[in-house]
Amino acid sequence: MTTENIAAPINPWAVAQQQFDLAAERLQLDDAMRRVLREPRRELTVHFPVKMDDGSVEVFTGYRVQHNLGRGPAKGGIRYHQDVTLDEVKALAMWMTWKCAVVGIPYGGGKGGVIVDPKKLSIKELEALTRRFFTEIEVLVGPEKDIPAPDVNTNAQVMAWMMDTYSMHVGYTVPGVVTGKPISLGGSEGRNEATARGTVYCIIEAVRHLGIELDKARVAIQGFGNAGSIAAQLITAEKATVVAVSDSTGGIHNPNGLEINRVIGWKQEHGTVQGFPGAKDISNAQLLEVECDILIPAALENQITARNADNIKARLVAEAANGPTTPEADEILWKKSIFMIPDILCNAGGVTVSYFEWVQDLNRDHWSEQVVNEKLKVIMVKAFQETLAIARREQIYMRTAAYLLAVKRVAEATQMRGLYP
Ligand code: GLU
Repeated sequence: MTTENIAAPINPWAVAQQQFDLAAERLQLDDAMRRVLREPRRELTVHFPVKMDDGSVEVFTGYRVQHNLGRGPAKGGIRYHQDVTLDEVKALAMWMTWKCAVVGIPYGGGKGGVIVDPKKLSIKELEALTRRFFTEIEVLVGPEKDIPAPDVNTNAQVMAWMMDTYSMHVGYTVPGVVTGKPISLGGSEGRNEATARGTVYCIIEAVRHLGIELDKARVAIQGFGNAGSIAAQLITAEKATVVAVSDSTGGIHNPNGLEINRVIGWKQEHGTVQGFPGAKDISNAQLLEVECDILIPAALENQITARNADNIKARLVAEAANGPTTPEADEILWKKSIFMIPDILCNAGGVTVSYFEWVQDLNRDHWSEQVVNEKLKVIMVKAFQETLAIARREQIYMRTAAYLLAVKRVAEATQMRGLYP
């Protein structure tokens, strides 16, 4: 899915820095502040051996990057993917800094990744890789320092192994070292659905602003992992019609609507959404261009580019993925008056409930799902409205507005702390 609709590979780190530069310019940040915020604070690369089931040893490469620690400990997920690069992880770490600032939670930004296709590993190999990778990055992580979470191809089970590995090393159980854990190990109610739920809260605000009736809206969703598949369910519950979905193998389209629960069952059985009865198979590139009102990219970076932005038919793009749209594509969407809910706002529900999980863990507390969802809604609606107010006041694109809000908050914190020594 990463390379399908791109000619020359687009470097996400160049994109992230370009987005930051635009905000820094508008905020007239001084040169020193720009140079500080433009680079990650720490970058760790690790190469580590894993004993495979057949007795052979494989050496894997992974990364943990902390972009900024100004507003609190580093926070951000760890992804397992064959296309992970250091530049990708740096971009994702920077986006986490802005995301935490947009929703006003007390974290800096971090991210991790391992170059691996986890679908090719046995469960035993996956556990061994996870435990050894976490051991290697333990120089950086800790409940007060850097708190990982799930991302592409990692889940609650992987978080449980990470938490256990850290806990075994320090000699006592430390639930607050990672979030997105199983409920039985100090995970939060509602965390699994949080990214999608936050996206849907944003969409509800956006359609109200745009005068779109959600119960008549057609939705296309790229990506059928944690964010995409749950967004499909939640937006269906809001009476919208999901007309197209896709996963890493390709997509399906039915202009009359897809029955999402059946699609989920189909994917469980066949390992792909393709071939779903009554729907037409389409590619991931085609999915982005289908007739719809709301497009939710929920997969990887660089999907909406200068090459296809002009063909997007949606009135609203809600970025459940990180970095799905390039700056050149942003220009095109803005000119086409397509409303953008940018990633650092749209998918912030995940890290927001991660923050709730961490607070519960540190306080040895457990909140009900209702409490979690209510608190999430308050934060998402506030962040959306604050961003929209800036966009309207300055007559700017929503991504630019979110960046102004976030970069200003981080720059202020950095300024107040001053330089050490
Ligand atoms: N990986 C998610 C994201 O990109 C969640 C991060 C977290 O919960 O720390 O926002």
